[in-house]
Amino acid sequence: METDFDVIIIGSGAGGAPIANRLVKAGKSVLILEKGPLFLPQYQTNNGLSDFKRDELFATGAEKQIRIPNMDNNGDSYYSSHVEPDLNDEPHVYRDFRKNSNNEFEIDENGNRIPFDKATIEGYTAQVVGGGTQLYGAVHLRFTPLDFKLQTFNAGRTDLIDDPNGDVQREVRDWAISYDDLEPYYVEVEELVGLNGTSPNQLKPFSQDFLQKPVEPNPISGFAKTGMEELGKILTNNGQPVEPYRTPLAVITEDHAPSGRKVPQDRETIKSGYYNRYGDPLGLKSSTWVSLLSPIQNFDNFQLWTNCVVTNLDCQGSRVDRIIFRDPAGKERILQVKSGAIIIVACSTIESVRLLKLSAEASAEFDRRINQNDLLGKYFLTHCFGGAETIVRDLDREDRRPLRFDKSISLDSDWATDCCATEDFLKSNGLWAGGAIYNNTSDQALPITLGRTHGSQDLDTIWNVFNSDTRLTGQGMVDFFDENFGTRLSVSFMANQVALKTNRIELHPTVKDKWGRKSAYIVKDWHPHDIHLMKTFAEQCEEILLLGRANDNRQEIEEGGIYLAGNALARIANHILGGARFGTDPKDSVLDINCRAWEFENLYVTDGSFMPTSGGANPTHTIEANAFRIADHLLSVLGGI
Ligand SMILES: Cc1cc2nc3c(=O)[nH]c(=O)nc-3n(C[C@H](O)[C@H](O)[C@H](O)COP(=O)(O)OP(=O)(O)OC[C@H]3O[C@@H](n4cnc5c(N)ncnc54)[C@H](O)[C@@H]3O)c2cc1C
Repeated sequence: METDFDVIIIGSGAGGAPIANRLVKAGKSVLILEKGPLFLPQYQTNNGLSDFKRDELFATGAEKQIRIPNMDNNGDSYYSSHVEPDLNDEPHVYRDFRKNSNNEFEIDENGNRIPFDKATIEGYTAQVVGGGTQLYGAVHLRFTPLDFKLQTFNAGRTDLIDDPNGDVQREVRDWAISYDDLEPYYVEVEELVGLNGTSPNQLKPFSQDFLQKPVEPNPISGFAKTGMEELGKILTNNGQPVEPYRTPLAVITEDHAPSGRKVPQDRETIKSGYYNRYGDPLGLKSSTWVSLLSPIQNFDNFQLWTNCVVTNLDCQGSRVDRIIFRDPAGKERILQVKSGAIIIVACSTIESVRLLKLSAEASAEFDRRINQNDLLGKYFLTHCFGGAETIVRDLDREDRRPLRFDKSISLDSDWATDCCATEDFLKSNGLWAGGAIYNNTSDQALPITLGRTHGSQDLDTIWNVFNSDTRLTGQGMVDFFDENFGTRLSVSFMANQVALKTNRIELHPTVKDKWGRKSAYIVKDWHPHDIHLMKTFAEQCEEILLLGRANDNRQEIEEGGIYLAGNALARIANHILGGARFGTDPKDSVLDINCRAWEFENLYVTDGSFMPTSGGANPTHTIEANAFRIADHLLSVLGGI
């Protein structure tokens, strides 16, 4: 197939859509190839029905069984969702290690942990137009200025706890750009995506406040707010209290001119328990489809080809000249790229690295260029995350009965604080980097989500919750819901993970997807300093619940980091980053400062894989801001600004 597009973008999520939005409006011709379908919110359909279902279980049908030879969980049951790949068709494989019944690693006769492989859908964001931004909780925090220069911040420090080999100082890199470079693009995302929130009290300078106002917080969040205020009086910044702020959310709360999306007359009615983890039938959660792509859908110079999975890139010299993909019927197609056209890979980190590695296996020239050093797939990052949660009790009553709230009348988060991102906090706790803390209002707002998060399990392991807690039958189940439903409050942290070369994305030697392509193999571990960081942050989250008087009994507060979960090595917070870091030195990075692969003239990678460190907050705001920055660069290359 001959094409005439100036730019071809693979993937329509956070890393791809901003580039399409900017370039199409500037008159460039753009094609997006997207693996998933287009699901419309109800305001865009003729019959007023959305393609997204308010289906808590999120399943496409009946229970299935994993049938992947040599996987430790072969034979386990699972449900597949309508926006994630079927586990049997397209597994991600991750390496884990045997644990005993006390959740401790088993050790072989040589003193080594005993590895095994498991199939999972962890690390797929969402396979639909909009990608992960269709399912996300829409928490849209900026990174702090410090997040961009952690190499400089940590240079020469001798106070870092649990870093015996000096990994932090050896491995961490400053970003090739600063906070100030990205600030105008953060503003652009806030306007075009339509973020609500408040900027005062954030540890990040804002040149412009949010244009959209937050909705009223759910009453249960008041405990978190009070706790954050009290903690901020203890964890001061240069002697000044650190106050909480309303969590920035990509939810349209007022009529939004850039997307044309209008809100209901009573804007409080937009709250629902179906924000985090679900597609939003109302189209008020601002996915990249709602805010960035549907506004350009009728432009003559824009095409979106859905249900098209790109399987390979090919090159002639330094130019990617062919894109090989499967069309909606599964037929292989080859797209010839016109001279001068630009290719953007934005498939989400794991799938982008996999696509580049598969392309390298198929072409010696592609291999030589993309693997000009050994860094592709290395320094894979997620986040350190975790927190504290408790049943909120009526402390004015002698029986301390639980207080019940309707948490489904909420958005994902109401309050956040930066009190654990100050230099004072980091230095006094021997930490290399900081993070954000926010309350997850909608966490466990619905019965199945309550069950699902009990025991920290995830979608493909949902039944483990009920298998491993035998109290959850009959009256035990009734009591469980009575005690926990609408009574629990959680406070979470999201913080930087130490960048390690050994944390990596490879191609699995034997497991293949339904098209015969090698699956991604995720090899990662937590660094001892990550564990120190997660313990420190989880303790602060516990303090917030105590200081906010959600509960006055420490024993009733569960706290911890994700490293404690049974499947801790697989859990990645839905945040997949790194693996193709950008930089200024071709020997030390996969991409240049503009996210162009060093040895290619027209190949860019703009999803979360460009990040050299994962940042102290949820990543989408930064991925989108960076994509707008790259779009400006492309306009200068193509001639447009
Ligand atoms: C349940 C959940 C909650 C989350 N909550 C938050 C949150 O509150 N805040 C936050 O900041 N982040 C959150 N995230 C993460 C957020 O969604 C991601 O950080 C973000 O979407 C990543 O952007 P991306 O461009 O890397 O990938 P995506 O946005 O996922 O886009 C990748 C796109 O590429 C397509 N694709 C993949 N492979 C191919 C191929 N071979 N050919 C063609 N197309 C392909 C995919 O179908 C997808 O549409 C959440 C994610 C999930 C799943």
